Amino acid sequence: MTTKNLTTVKCPQCAISVTWSETSAYRPFCSKRCQLIDLGEWADEEKRIPSTPDSTENDGWSEES
Ligand SMILES: [Zn+2]
Repeated sequence: MTTKNLTTVKCPQCAISVTWSETSAYRPFCSKRCQLIDLGEWADEEKRIPSTPDSTENDGWSEES
């Protein structure tokens, strides 16, 4: 058994062991799905940059006491 030659990594998404070889087209991800998920989160992170600070100032201040 010479399995030590096989390099395996863990999928960043689901932590499944992925063989680091040409057969794993989406390494370090286990599948295209996991890769897309990661890319999606990355893109989402970009969108999350605050362009407008959510200010809740004087929005409907009609409270009379
Ligand atoms: Zn995965």
